[in-house]
Amino acid sequence: MAARYRVFSVRVAAVIPLTPSFVRVTLTGDALAEFSSVGLDQRIKLVLPIPGHGFTDLPDGDDWYAAWRALPDAVRNPLRTYTVRSFRPDARELDIDFVAHGDTGPASRWVSSCRVGDELRIVGPAVPSSPAELPSGAAEFDPGAANRILLAGDETAAPAICAILEALDVTAVGHVFIEVPTDADRLPVTAPAGVEVRWIARNGASHGVRMTDQVHAWASTVAAPVVTSPCGDPVELADVDVDEQVLWDIPAHDAPRPVYAWIAGEAGCVKELRRHLVRGVGLDRKQVAFMGYWRHGKAEN
Ligand SMILES: Cc1cc2nc3c(=O)[nH]c(=O)nc-3n(C[C@H](O)[C@H](O)[C@H](O)COP(=O)(O)OP(=O)(O)OC[C@H]3O[C@@H](n4cnc5c(N)ncnc54)[C@H](O)[C@@H]3O)c2cc1C
Repeated sequence: MAARYRVFSVRVAAVIPLTPSFVRVTLTGDALAEFSSVGLDQRIKLVLPIPGHGFTDLPDGDDWYAAWRALPDAVRNPLRTYTVRSFRPDARELDIDFVAHGDTGPASRWVSSCRVGDELRIVGPAVPSSPAELPSGAAEFDPGAANRILLAGDETAAPAICAILEALDVTAVGHVFIEVPTDADRLPVTAPAGVEVRWIARNGASHGVRMTDQVHAWASTVAAPVVTSPCGDPVELADVDVDEQVLWDIPAHDAPRPVYAWIAGEAGCVKELRRHLVRGVGLDRKQVAFMGYWRHGKAEN
């Protein structure tokens, strides 16, 4: 039986500016006693209030999603995807690290003006109500027995990467590249001794270019078997139109993976890295999770 997803009513307990680009919002509420956290890159949906209207028309109950979809645009609360940066079940507190990117979207707009006590709704998994129910999902990081890992992403992936780093086994070995807008956006994070963490500041360069260079350099050091088609050509890779489709290419749970890579961020940049690693370098895509977290010029959903 699949995990139950439901709407949780929460309110803002704290708003902490971390750096020029990151704001941490701590959410709290009795409903979080029922929230199920798996950590790592666990994603949830935020349900944003409609100015002057709040959550008046937001449906509740098991089939809330179908009812939400059927609402007219004007009263349908926007949903946006975010990472659970950390969850403290005893305190019923959940942290989200937002990238403040101006007032172009409802989530970024909300975080720029939210105050302690403001109401929010999140959608996430509930604790299993019976042993037959699966533990909650919505986390993709799955290195299996890989003896070398790569984590690479832009600022929207930084919360997920930091949460993953803090959960890694102390024996883990690998490289981490996190591209952020400026030098001042580096966040403190702990990592196992064998994992090198490199914060890459864009400082005005085009989005993704510096991280892409680092990932290319990393790929050239990977001594993994190169995958080719039966006739010896590089593997075919279905094109993904990142303006129309979600780029989300996740290896099967049981795929063998001596090296495991997890790459997330702006979809155009992730697509280029996917093409380079799979078609160019010949890395087996069963070893790499590619996730478009957002798209330049395009609102989520
Ligand atoms: C699994 C997953 C986990 C994520 N976790 C986080 C997280 O923890 N923290 C986080 O900040 N983001 C995270 N994101 C990304 C976040 O969902 C998007 O940035 C989202 O588009 C923000 O919504 P919005 O309402 O602010 O903007 P939208 O209404 O979606 O977009 C409006 C405009 O803003 C642009 N835009 C969106 N995001 C950015 C950005 N970061 N920088 C510059 N322009 C942008 C869009 O291209 C569009 O033109 C995650 C995404 C996914 C899929």
